[in-house]
Amino acid sequence: MMNIEALAKPSVLTQPVYEPGKPIEYVARELGLDPAGIVKLASNENPFGPSPLGLVAAQRALLEGALYPDGGCFELRRTLADSRGLRPDQFVVGNGSNEIIELLGHAFVGPGDEVVMAAPAFVVYKLVTLLFGGRVLEVPLRDWRHDLAAMAAAVGPKTKLVCVCTPNNPTGTANEEAELFAFVRSLPPHVVCVIDEAYAEYLLHPPDIRPLIGEGRKVIGLRTFSKIYGLASLRIGYGYAGSDLCRLLNRLRQPFNVNAIAQAAAIAAVGDLGFARRCAEANRAGLRQLAEGFGALDLETVPSVANFQLVKVGDGARVFGDLQKLGMIVRPVASYGLPEWIRVTVGSEPQNDRLLSTLRQVLRRSV
Ligand SMILES: *Cc1c(COP(=O)(O)O)cnc(C)c1O
Repeated sequence: MMNIEALAKPSVLTQPVYEPGKPIEYVARELGLDPAGIVKLASNENPFGPSPLGLVAAQRALLEGALYPDGGCFELRRTLADSRGLRPDQFVVGNGSNEIIELLGHAFVGPGDEVVMAAPAFVVYKLVTLLFGGRVLEVPLRDWRHDLAAMAAAVGPKTKLVCVCTPNNPTGTANEEAELFAFVRSLPPHVVCVIDEAYAEYLLHPPDIRPLIGEGRKVIGLRTFSKIYGLASLRIGYGYAGSDLCRLLNRLRQPFNVNAIAQAAAIAAVGDLGFARRCAEANRAGLRQLAEGFGALDLETVPSVANFQLVKVGDGARVFGDLQKLGMIVRPVASYGLPEWIRVTVGSEPQNDRLLSTLRQVLRRSV
């Protein structure tokens, strides 16, 4: 009898799989711990929970749960257009901004096409490229930041997409607006530039790529409600770009790709400016707290402007495992080529305290 794998397209069997941060319930079950005592600082989620306005709107939207959602996300696109000074037809909404990355793959990447990205950078660019049979061209970071000159030099006639993640995951480093502008303007006309801004709201002065869109550049910005708005579980994010590019991507999505609860929550969260500001401020305080704490432990870090922090702990896998046994879930980053490091999400002040004291305990044990 023929096994099922023999029936799949060959690329399915070689496709690497995304490794998410471990859910609390999973770790509790595995290690026999009380889930209430576990802190997850592994996936850059918001330690302060969902936007309160978003939460109320989501609860209300549940009452209409028997109806299909607005597949076109009309109200959300109008809200985003108002808040960002663009037109509603300059947005495409996805089931997380990850879906927008996949739509870009659908639209532009086929066998033999190239996608230029930094290494290490967010792994989904690589996964999507491989999913569509494309070639991954990885350009090493320089001083932990995207080396935009080297990335521009890597672009060739077969390049379809160039992905820039700023602030970058997993490093937390950002590129300046001026160098981004020069980079995008230098790209040849057959290339679409993807600027992943998942953490932009944590910056005091995020780069503003809207002038590039206004100039007609082939550029798309990606934003998410998973991070500062605290809606990761609802799965909603968006791309903004020229209306021609958005129209193209909108053709490719599922008819009802974004559920109504997520849409309602996102519409309200856009207006929850106070919550976003408080979270960004608390995050900056948390980064200082962690920098001080890691410094006191004599640990090397990469200076971060996002809501997470790379810290060099020696044996990343062991420290990850030992922290987990003590109820702290962080992210090992060996798969990003950083086996000596772990990535920790900036938590609330008490969570950061607990991370630092638990880490001290774990590191002391090893010497
Ligand atoms: C978290 C994250 C996202 C968000 O993905 P969603 O699908 O919107 O949850 C996108 N890009 C990067 C770099 C991220 O770290």
